[in-house]
Amino acid sequence: MAVPQNKITRSRRNMRRSHDALVAANPNECTNCGELKRPHHICPACGHYNDREVVPVDSGLDLEDDDAA
Ligand SMILES: [Zn+2]
Repeated sequence: MAVPQNKITRSRRNMRRSHDALVAANPNECTNCGELKRPHHICPACGHYNDREVVPVDSGLDLEDDDAA
């Protein structure tokens, strides 16, 4: 197994980690329903993108129905 030849100092370790911070998401409001959504993504709440319904949102679908053969 490869073994580090030299100790990484606190300074070098911390310099490496200076780029590791996570940035917060930047959600936009959906122009159709006002729900927060990711920019350049279809609204998960109403299926709209660019003021147009791209993915039909079928509220009549019953996922709890176990009787369907
Ligand atoms: Zn929406």
